[in-house]
Amino acid sequence: MEVSVEQEINQIQMGKPHVVILGAGASRAAFQNGDKNGVRLPLMDDFADVLGLNDLLSQAGIDFETVNFEKIYDQLHQNEAHREIRKELEKVIHNYFSRLEIIDEPTIYDHLLLSLRGKDVVATFNWDPFLLQAYRRNAQKFKLPQLLFLHGNVGVGYCEKDKVSGINGNRCSKCGCVFTPSKLLYPVAEKNYHLSGFISSQWEDLSQYLKSAFMITIFGYGAPQSDVSAIDLMKSAWGNVNQREMEQAEIIDRRSEDDLCNTWEPFIHTHHYETHSSFYDSWIANHPRRTGEAYINQYWNAQFIDNNPIPKEFAFPELWAWFDQLKQVEEQH
Ligand SMILES: [Zn+2]
Repeated sequence: MEVSVEQEINQIQMGKPHVVILGAGASRAAFQNGDKNGVRLPLMDDFADVLGLNDLLSQAGIDFETVNFEKIYDQLHQNEAHREIRKELEKVIHNYFSRLEIIDEPTIYDHLLLSLRGKDVVATFNWDPFLLQAYRRNAQKFKLPQLLFLHGNVGVGYCEKDKVSGINGNRCSKCGCVFTPSKLLYPVAEKNYHLSGFISSQWEDLSQYLKSAFMITIFGYGAPQSDVSAIDLMKSAWGNVNQREMEQAEIIDRRSEDDLCNTWEPFIHTHHYETHSSFYDSWIANHPRRTGEAYINQYWNAQFIDNNPIPKEFAFPELWAWFDQLKQVEEQH
């Protein structure tokens, strides 16, 4: 009735995806001291200050002292006279996030990606390039989860004509044109803002994944009330919970238990959920590349399971060597 770490490593059984959704809190947890050069990630509340947007916003007569950035963008979007200011704003934001560089040592994002398999998916609301940079340095060695960018990303470009996306600056595989950078600013208070352009494909893919997911992990995402499409997405993720055999949700967030309850109570119609204040306490970090198998063992077969925590202090060569034992089993299947 007990599953050892070795047994978990040697087991490949789950075909359904583990869906991970990242918000601003995930990048902040992963890059507490900023990027490689100490450039910091802005918060929604100090966004205009950190990016030096105050002059631009006062031209539009927007009181940036009292409202957060998402609300500022909605105000700009409602007024066609602010079109040029919107474009300038997008340019400043794009430039700021584009220059961010991931630190050399393994980060939470490296650990997250290495701990999931090709059947899984990580969908992020974040603009920063860190997830993509972590992906690129691990992808040659391991099969990694698919990435989705729900609000665009500075590292991702798109060919509108062929509906092909890829690394910003690269060329479309179909027509050979250089990708257009993905848009970053969306009027999130408008219903269905997610149904056009690059992000429509990302949201469509995510909803397909959610239909068959065995587990959902929400990391550092606050589900802002202002983002109507995101709220609908979260509701649909749990909407037909009664038709599913069983599902599990975990929330990784540093906010208090009360805060988390208030945020998630409207969505989660299941008792099968847990909260963690650190990524390293999560199901993912304790059952790397076997989250589904650990789930089967514990929730379907009612067995006791041991944790197989990621060695988070390892530098890259040792970290990859540690993950190799898991990869070897996967390659035999
Ligand atoms: Zn093309």
